Amino acid sequence: MERAQALPGEGLVRDLALRGLRDPVLLRAFLRVPRARFLPPEQAAQAECDRPLEIGYGQTCSQPFVVAKMLAALELKGSERVLEIGTGSGYQTALLCEVLARGVFLLHTVEILPELSARAASTLRELGYPHVALRVGDGALGWPEAAPYDAIIVSAAPAQVPPALLEQLAPGGRLVIPVGAVAGSQELELWRRDPVTLSLERRALMAVRFVPLIGIAALH
Ligand code: SAH
Repeated sequence: MERAQALPGEGLVRDLALRGLRDPVLLRAFLRVPRARFLPPEQAAQAECDRPLEIGYGQTCSQPFVVAKMLAALELKGSERVLEIGTGSGYQTALLCEVLARGVFLLHTVEILPELSARAASTLRELGYPHVALRVGDGALGWPEAAPYDAIIVSAAPAQVPPALLEQLAPGGRLVIPVGAVAGSQELELWRRDPVTLSLERRALMAVRFVPLIGIAALH
């Protein structure tokens, strides 16, 4: 008898579920997005492994478990305005599209390296994710023209949270960002702007290891 064909992210989803990921919307997103397509050919065989993988230019496709934690922290319902900093391979961008696909959305994403942005744009187009606006630039400045955002997700670590990102957070909005100048001692932080008082509240989520945010954030 012929075996049913495995979905692209099946092995990965099993691992994520074993590590405690329960949200069906997130699990479905990981199942649907073929991570291998966002990786250089020599890394594609590792796509189902729950670890960061090199994508060239000294950058990595983030570890799926950490991406899952970040997406869960944003508590997306499907119609939020979202800004992503550090497009990289575009893998997390596609996951965001899957999570947001319950609503009408336009996702904004900023990448500082033009080669990676161009590659991500073509992968996202090939896979049929049309609701993404990509920009090449320094994400520490956010994307002010499209602000404010209900959710901002940052995939590279600055020493301190860039003030522009906090300024571009809508009332009730959430920012998830790795913070720390030293690779071995970064913390994933969740910032939330109170919908009434507009004050900011910060919570540390877990220890993480991300590539540094380059550009002006690196100068502070
Ligand atoms: N989410 C991506 C992670 C890529 S690694 C993925 O899963 O593929 C982090 C990315 O942030 C790299 O592509 C790096 O070039 C980018 N980056 C670093 N500093 C940046 C900055 N100041 N603005 C925008 N992108 C930046």
